[in-house]
Amino acid sequence: MAELILRDLVKTYPGGNGRATDTVSLEVADGEFMVLLGPSGCGKTTLLRMIAGLEVPDAGQIVLGGRDVTYLEPRRRNLSMVFQSYAVFPNKKVAANIGFGLRVRGVPADEIRRKVAWAAELLQLTPYLDRYPAKLSGGQRQRVAVARAIVTDADLLLMDEPLSNLDALLRMSFRAELKKLVAELGITTVYVTHDQVEALSLGHRIAVMREGDIVQTGAPAEVYDNPATEFVGGFLGSPPMNFLTGTVAPAEYGPRLDLGGQSLALPEGLASFDGRELRLGIRPEALEVVEAGSDPVLRADLQVVEPLGASTLLTTAVAGQVVKVHTAAGFRAEPGDTLTLRVPPHACRWYDPGSGTLLP
Ligand code: ATP
Repeated sequence: MAELILRDLVKTYPGGNGRATDTVSLEVADGEFMVLLGPSGCGKTTLLRMIAGLEVPDAGQIVLGGRDVTYLEPRRRNLSMVFQSYAVFPNKKVAANIGFGLRVRGVPADEIRRKVAWAAELLQLTPYLDRYPAKLSGGQRQRVAVARAIVTDADLLLMDEPLSNLDALLRMSFRAELKKLVAELGITTVYVTHDQVEALSLGHRIAVMREGDIVQTGAPAEVYDNPATEFVGGFLGSPPMNFLTGTVAPAEYGPRLDLGGQSLALPEGLASFDGRELRLGIRPEALEVVEAGSDPVLRADLQVVEPLGASTLLTTAVAGQVVKVHTAAGFRAEPGDTLTLRVPPHACRWYDPGSGTLLP
């Protein structure tokens, strides 16, 4: 296991559309599970491939376990990789697939047998060791790929969307198993996904990427609760954070945000925005439907009610702006009703509409 340091990595593909990664820096601690999260094309895979040695950066440095590996060939970096597609050898039985990396390294046969048995046990593959991959389900084949990656005592485990080819139910159960497995092994891991649920569930920390850049790094709860930009708040969460535009107006008892005739008290520090627009960010589950009440509440027109089993999702409009509310199961109201939403001040985040960044 080892610490991974990325310093100012730049990568441009010939004929590509600008920089695939643009001076990206990141530190992954020894034993840490780091998730690279972002939409398609943001540069996650490019970053992972540079760490693996499958792409050479135009500039910057990669240090693994204190060793500069920037220009080292992949097989000399002592890392393992699991890909989205079940990269298993169809003509080798499961046991040979799992032991492949060990055999290549010239590990003695009895040690290979012992380690293969250990990994097969961890990934519940023991009954299948004598089968060919064609006789396995997609989930089992991906287990083989993971087993092969963990037997080699690598310093670093790299995973590129390893769950994305599995169906929803299998993905959920394998996700929990993967989390348990990696925790037990304590191996430093970099995991690429565009699935925010996977990122929140698996990561010790998440690095959110956008257009070749890391825009925020932090523990899942930190990134979820305090998105550094509207992009992050909109990318994490299902449904994502609500954003409402209002105008700051002075009032007798401090500044207020005017939302089409309704208003909310603002933190004193935002008084300097007087007369300007400001964006309120609030999570759908932070809003509470109440009977009636005074400040801090907003009136909302109920448009759609979606019972989701364990909860109910409401689509409402506040001063003509869409606001999603995640409320309890069994919620009863009809489209066309007017709701009163309590807006807890501690859950409000304020953003600069120009830059989309979180205000202190
Ligand atoms: P996805 O989830 O779709 O794989 P990603 O976040 O992993 O996306 P990358 O695959 O790293 O993103 O791509 C980053 C940018 O680099 C994109 O604009 C992509 O089109 C471009 N790119 C990636 N590989 C190549 C290549 N071999 N040649 C040219 N451009 C490339």
